[in-house]
Amino acid sequence: MPSGTQLRKRVLSGMRSTGKLHLGNYVGALDNWVRMQDQYECFFFIADWHALTTDYADTSRIKENSVEVLLDWLAAGLDPDRCTMFIQSHVPQHAELHLLFSMITPLGWLERVPTYKEQRENIKDKDLGTYGFLGYPVLQAADILMYKADFVPVGEDQVAHVELTREIARRFNQFYNVNGRTVFPEPQSLLTPAAKLPGTDGRKMSKSYGNTIMLTDPEPVVRQKLKTMVTDPARVRRSDPGNPDLCPVGDLHKIFSSSETIAKVGEGCRSAAIGCIECKSWAADALVNILNPMQERRKKYEDNPRLAWDILEAGSAKAGRVADATMSEVREAMGMSPEYEPPESSAAK
Ligand code: SF4
Repeated sequence: MPSGTQLRKRVLSGMRSTGKLHLGNYVGALDNWVRMQDQYECFFFIADWHALTTDYADTSRIKENSVEVLLDWLAAGLDPDRCTMFIQSHVPQHAELHLLFSMITPLGWLERVPTYKEQRENIKDKDLGTYGFLGYPVLQAADILMYKADFVPVGEDQVAHVELTREIARRFNQFYNVNGRTVFPEPQSLLTPAAKLPGTDGRKMSKSYGNTIMLTDPEPVVRQKLKTMVTDPARVRRSDPGNPDLCPVGDLHKIFSSSETIAKVGEGCRSAAIGCIECKSWAADALVNILNPMQERRKKYEDNPRLAWDILEAGSAKAGRVADATMSEVREAMGMSPEYEPPESSAAK
């Protein structure tokens, strides 16, 4: 009798091991993952090999960065009893599947991935003319297909990668099967509603712009960052009316504040009845309300990081068991299983 877990659809997603997370990571993915834990059978992984595709030259902080990501996951509410959290490099089967997929993936498919072209053009301080960087969507396909995921939660910019994963699955299934049975299902994208989360300078929140509010920022830091946040440029003087729809602080309210506060901001901003300082303090209150319980949860693991590492190890062992089963099928389908039946004629000799 299948357990409840097996009946649930499976979800896989990952984050690069880039260190501590910011509110943009939370709103863009993590918050959604926390909600999915009970609805799906979730596998979440820290993509330390993916981090190497752009940051290969210095790996001195890679393990520390992985732990920081995990601490923020646990802080946000991912629960090892309700989902599997693991680290990519501790499930080396991903590398084997990546290699096999790289044999069947046409170069043209990779060269036309939009983020490949974009990043080659925009990132000038690193040499991205590497095989690993071109091939990272193949590694991503291996990550997803290894778990035969039904769904992959992604932002708009990642939909093309899931499409490529589907094409790779289709191509593999076309060439190979186990007694007529295909190995890989085609996963679906689960589009994460893209809330607009601006950084303190009004641009998209990103570590590379230095405009982030981190999940670990203590209350005084959050309040200070809010104080310097840009606002609707139309409000030059306190008496000038503004528009929260044109203000990054207004965007924060829409995501984090109660409907009463949002109404109060809309009314007060448009009539110049409130000042930006007051409005920002309400936004800071909303953020602190969300961040405080996270930081409390994080503390337990910060005080005992071994506990966090053990969660990752147990998750990696569990993921490894699923990966082993998939790789057995893959090897069998490709005629590369360790089993060997000598031809009858030679056995008779
Ligand atoms: S009152 Fe609030 S929403 Fe309006 S411009 Fe100032 S900070 Fe932005």
